[in-house]
Amino acid sequence: MCGIVGYIGNKQAYPILIKGLQRLEYRGGYDSAGIALINDNDNLNLYKSKGKVADLIHFAEKNDVSGTIGIAHTRWATHGEPNQVNAHPHYSQSEELVIIHNGIIENYAVLKKGLQKHGYTFQSETDTEVLVQLIEFVKKSNNISLSEAVQLALNEVVGAYAIAIIEKGNPNCIVAARKGSPLVIGIGENEYFLASDATPIIEHTNKVIYIDDEDIVTIERDKNLIIKTIANVEKTPEIKKLEMTISQLEKNGYPHFMLKEIFEQQDH
Ligand code: GLU
Repeated sequence: MCGIVGYIGNKQAYPILIKGLQRLEYRGGYDSAGIALINDNDNLNLYKSKGKVADLIHFAEKNDVSGTIGIAHTRWATHGEPNQVNAHPHYSQSEELVIIHNGIIENYAVLKKGLQKHGYTFQSETDTEVLVQLIEFVKKSNNISLSEAVQLALNEVVGAYAIAIIEKGNPNCIVAARKGSPLVIGIGENEYFLASDATPIIEHTNKVIYIDDEDIVTIERDKNLIIKTIANVEKTPEIKKLEMTISQLEKNGYPHFMLKEIFEQQDH
């Protein structure tokens, strides 16, 4: 299954994101993995590879993996074969925006044609790249903020998504949204986590917010979260307490490790 992890705070993002992807690996069935980080010199570094999270680590760690903001993804290909180019994150045309996405954009072909008429070109075969290009197009043509552009762009989208986007030149903000695919925000001390389920978050904090369908969340460093609907109505975040413990998590929900091993062996 595909997975999303994000981090913004005062710690190094890379180890948190990689551990988060590894926590999501229990779900299996992904074909590639990738990560994007903004370092302290405001460089946006993006690494992705076909295969397992271990392959991503092997590739990324030869490079600069510093930075206190980042997003990471494991892909289960629906549009375009599993390869490095189609792996997430995806850049926008200007390479200022980077997106990760779980789900399917059903009307991607129509949107892509429209964007091509405006001079946009595409590197990958994915529906996801169309979405990040659309957000950039809306942002640049209206000269608006990233969260406003995400809100306007998502009004044009038919399909299912959990997305997270970061922007070069804006190392203090992650914008995320969902419809039909799960998305959870974890609230730590001066830090935020985001993930497609709570397993990457539980070891850092038990305070979470489950994002509702068609909501957009703006996560800014050292600020309160802002949640708005795609109709631009602001909502009060509802903080919940996670009841799962780290040891339950490590047993994947089985009451004993022995049972976990017996059941997992039957899967092979
Ligand atoms: N539809 C997207 C793709 O094929 C996202 C797949 C996923 O959910 O991992 O890249």
